[in-house]
Amino acid sequence: MKMQINSRPTGRLLLAGLLLASAPALAPFGARGQALPEPVAGNPIIKDKYTADPAALVHKGTVYLYAGHDEAPARQERYVMNEWLCYSSQDMVTWKEHPSPLNVKAFAWAKADAWASQVIERNGKFYWYAAVEHGTIPGKAIGVAVADSPTGPFKDARGSALITNDMTTEAKISWDDIDPTVIVDDKGQAYLYWGNTICYWAKLKANMTELDGPINKVTTLPKFTEAPWVHKRGNWYYLSYAYQFPEKIAYAMSRSIEGPWEFKGLLNEVAGNSNTNHQAIIDFKGQSYFIYHNGSIPTDGGSFRRSVCIDKLEYNKDGTMKRVVMTTEGVKAAK
Ligand code: CA
Repeated sequence: MKMQINSRPTGRLLLAGLLLASAPALAPFGARGQALPEPVAGNPIIKDKYTADPAALVHKGTVYLYAGHDEAPARQERYVMNEWLCYSSQDMVTWKEHPSPLNVKAFAWAKADAWASQVIERNGKFYWYAAVEHGTIPGKAIGVAVADSPTGPFKDARGSALITNDMTTEAKISWDDIDPTVIVDDKGQAYLYWGNTICYWAKLKANMTELDGPINKVTTLPKFTEAPWVHKRGNWYYLSYAYQFPEKIAYAMSRSIEGPWEFKGLLNEVAGNSNTNHQAIIDFKGQSYFIYHNGSIPTDGGSFRRSVCIDKLEYNKDGTMKRVVMTTEGVKAAK
């Protein structure tokens, strides 16, 4: 039997409503005690837009967060992504939004899909490596944009793609050339890692816009899906990546940026309500951070309307990383 929820209120309910209406200074049921403050959820860190595929850059005491912008309407289970977003923080808790510094339209040769990216600094210039859909060479591609400031404006650094789908032919999919991550080693050699189903890597020339040698593969990463992120801490290099699908994050370690990479296991579990996870790892003001996305914004959040989160990352004495504990509270302000 259908419940009548719109029936006329009884006299008692009507009286209660009038009493509440006549006491505007009190929260509902305030007579029982002081109203509790709303819990302030630290995660997701951005609540007014859907943000995905985070990358972060530490520069002169500020963290710059770069993310894709999920714009898929509610209940449309597909990626709608046209631009990237940029935020900055001095404490990892308070985030300032900057005007979108990069759009797919900046790459005249691309036609769609502002997918995962990373920005790094070299010699005072900021290089933004981004996956997009190529306009004429079928499949995904990686472009590079450049700016004099971490907040842009960024412009296409080449006028053409750095990586196109036809440069890697072993994977028989059109989206294996995505998810770039870039690192400059202590000798000044830059490396680009990327991939889906196969993890590729290549050296970059000092100009950061051309490959410097052949495209290689990392073959020691079990269940590699996508989203490599390479970072260095102490004498260890770390290659973290999305493992299986739905994605967990796993990682490998090496003493050399060129490997061999030794698998070390899982780092993060499936991130709530999202089939992707997409980590970035940084150190800032003496603390290590794990930045990722989940689909936790109610009620339409999910795999195509994602949200960036930050939790702390901890290392063991032997250099291995402890399993990340994803939290709603997020991190405390860095000082
Ligand atoms: Ca390819």
